[in-house]
Amino acid sequence: MNRVRILNTSLHSISKQQLLDRLKDGGSVFTLNVDHLMKLQKDFEFYSAYSAATYRVCDSQIIKTLTDCFFPNTIQEKISGSDLLPAYIEHYKHDPEVKLFLLGAAEGVADAVRTRVNAEVGREMIVDVYSPPFGFHTDPTECEYINERIKQSGATTLAVGLGAPKQEIWIAQNQQKLPGVKVFLAVGAALDFEAGNLSRCPAWMSNGGLEWLHRLVSEPRRLWRRYLLESLPLLWLLPMQFVKLYRPPEFPEPALAFKFQQVENETV
Ligand code: UDP
Repeated sequence: MNRVRILNTSLHSISKQQLLDRLKDGGSVFTLNVDHLMKLQKDFEFYSAYSAATYRVCDSQIIKTLTDCFFPNTIQEKISGSDLLPAYIEHYKHDPEVKLFLLGAAEGVADAVRTRVNAEVGREMIVDVYSPPFGFHTDPTECEYINERIKQSGATTLAVGLGAPKQEIWIAQNQQKLPGVKVFLAVGAALDFEAGNLSRCPAWMSNGGLEWLHRLVSEPRRLWRRYLLESLPLLWLLPMQFVKLYRPPEFPEPALAFKFQQVENETV
């Protein structure tokens, strides 16, 4: 599997179907969007977590389109976290080995997903859910409680919807403490979409690179800064990479125990 270098990270060139098949053997999946790419320029902890992911896939039609302009045919398919979670459930619904734990979103949201999915697939595919309190990630007792609850559930897949950078850092820091979990999915707001709490944009908007606009209109107070201010540097950073003028931030080497990291070829 080849990788495409995008600024200071790289994306795996893989289709959704290939990814779903490969997850039979385990791994962690992070889905890169413009907000993540900008955070990777500033946040070393996030960068370290990202470097340790087994699969980094392209969440964003804007990144795919810009990359296609400069490095044609390098990204096979856009795979967003919001599409990945339902696709994963569909792919493994008849596999009794696959049992999910949903971590994140507001109280009651993941529970609604659990009730609907288990009724649809006809088995306890989602074995437990938990909505952690605000600021939980800095509380070791709470983190220990979460890990214990995941272990007790018998889950083999953990879907984490805490937003970036929290969800990726949490996965990187905790995956080794959860030996029973083979697959870790960082899914952002997918739990809200699956619960019907937030509406997903129509396919033509998503495929046209306008998903951000739909989300901005849905949650303007929370998202205006992300989409209208913090994402703008992408418009010059990617062209700068193309003309070899992009300079990555000077981070130390990520010193993580790479449970899932694989050595692969890099194409760009
Ligand atoms: N969230 C959470 N706990 C937190 C912060 C966020 O459960 O401490 C949840 C929030 O309820 C929502 C999701 O994380 O479900 C937000 O994801 P975001 O929109 O940032 O993700 P994206 O899909 O844009 O990556």
